[in-house]
Amino acid sequence: MERDTVILRAKWVLPISHDPIADGEVVVEDGQIAEVRPRSGASGSEVLDFGDAILMPGLVNGHCHLEYTALRGLDDRTPFFDWIRRLVELKAQCPAELWLPSSLLGAAEQIASGVTFVSDNTDSGASAEALARAGLRGRVYQEVFGIEPEPDDATILQTLKAKLDALRAMLARYEATERITLGVAPHAIYTVRDSLMRAVRRYASEQRLPLSLHAAESSEEVALARSGSGSFAEMFTQRKINYLHPRTPPIEYLHNAGVLASDVQVVHATRAEPRELEMLARAGASVAHCPRSNARLLTGIAPVYAMRRLGIPVVLGTDSAVSAGSLDIWEELRFAALAQRATSYAAQPSWRDWVGLLTLEGARVFGVDAQVGSLEVGKRADIIAVRTHRLAFMSMPDPYAALTLAARGEDVALTMVDGRVLYRDGAFTTLAPDALRAETLRILQGVGLG
Ligand SMILES: [Zn+2]
Repeated sequence: MERDTVILRAKWVLPISHDPIADGEVVVEDGQIAEVRPRSGASGSEVLDFGDAILMPGLVNGHCHLEYTALRGLDDRTPFFDWIRRLVELKAQCPAELWLPSSLLGAAEQIASGVTFVSDNTDSGASAEALARAGLRGRVYQEVFGIEPEPDDATILQTLKAKLDALRAMLARYEATERITLGVAPHAIYTVRDSLMRAVRRYASEQRLPLSLHAAESSEEVALARSGSGSFAEMFTQRKINYLHPRTPPIEYLHNAGVLASDVQVVHATRAEPRELEMLARAGASVAHCPRSNARLLTGIAPVYAMRRLGIPVVLGTDSAVSAGSLDIWEELRFAALAQRATSYAAQPSWRDWVGLLTLEGARVFGVDAQVGSLEVGKRADIIAVRTHRLAFMSMPDPYAALTLAARGEDVALTMVDGRVLYRDGAFTTLAPDALRAETLRILQGVGLG
C-alpha cells in the first residue's frame, strides 16, 4: 500500500533540537515526521514549497482561558482587583451557550498564529471540546472555586469529579484522549479556601492529575496573604467571608500547605520573592509567564531571568483575550523577550532560548516532548510554516532573532497537527470563524453585551 506522504519545503527548517537547516525539507508520512533534511529532488504524493519561510515545530501556548475570547474588549478596568471583579460580573451575565463558540473562536485564533498545543484553564469545560473539535493538542485544567462557606469541600470535589468524567467522555467521543490531557486548576488563593486547596491537592495526587493555579500575580493578592489587608480583604469583610490569611506571601503559603510539586504549574508568579523562587525550584514546579496580561493589569514583570537561573521550567502563555487583548503568541514572545532584557540588563534568555520555550521546552513542561516540540524523525507531525518575505525580515540572518523580533500571527502560512492541515494561507479546515463570530455576537447581543 502506498503511504500518505507530504514533503514540506522552505528556505529554513528549524528542528529546534538541532541547528537550523538552510534550504531544507520535512517529510511527513502518516502523521509522523519521516525525514528532516536538506532539500532533495524527491517528490511525494504532495509537495508544499513555502519558499521564503521557516518550517518549525508548532508552538506551545502555556496558559490560556479560551472560553473568555468573546469577552475581549468588554472589561477594561484596572488595577487587577477591579479587573477580576468586572470579569466575574460579565461571566454571570453570560448564558452557558456562549462558552463553546467563544472557545472555538479562541482556538481559531491559536491555529492562525501557529499554536498547536494549548494549555487552558476552564470553568465551563468548553475549551476541551473546542480543542478536540479544532484538532489541536493540549492540556485542559478544570477550574475549582470555593471561598464562601458553602458548598463544603466534599460537595465541590463531587462536582469536580463529575465534570472531569464528563470531559473524559466528551474527549473519547472525539477520539481526542491521546491529544488532550486533563488536569485540575484550583483557581487562586483568593478564590479557593485553605481546606479546599489541600483537598484538591490530595485528590489530584490520587488521580495523578497535574495542577495549575494562579499565584503571586498582583500586589492585592500578596497583601491579602501577608497581612489580610487590601481590596480582597475588604471584599471578604463585606461578604462576611472569614478569610484566615496565612501571613506569608502566596507561594510560600502553597509550599507550607504541601501544594507545590513537580506536577504544579504556577501561573504568573510576577510578585514571587527570591525565597519563593527557591521553593518553586526545589519542588520542581513550573511557571507560566504571561507578560502582556501582567503589564495590562498593572501587576509587574515576572523575574524570568532569575527563575531560569534557578532551573525553574518556564512556559509562555497569552492568558485570556480579555487581559492580553489578543491570542497571538508571537506578540507574547516579543513582549516577553524585550521586557526581560529591559529589567534584567542581560541578553539571557537568548533569542534561541525564547523560541525553545515556545517549542521543545514548552512540550517538556507538559510531558509531551517525546511526541512533539521539535522536528525529529519519529515525532508527530505538528509543524508550522512562517513566511519571512515581509520587509521586517530583511537582513535577519538569524532565524531565531527574526522570529522573536519580527514574526506575527499573520505570517503563519500553515498549521499542521498529527500531519493534518488545520490551516493554510488563511483557510481553516476544522473551524468556520465567520459563523462562530456571528453566533457569539448573537448570544452577546441577547444579553445586552454585543
Ligand atoms: Zn489565567
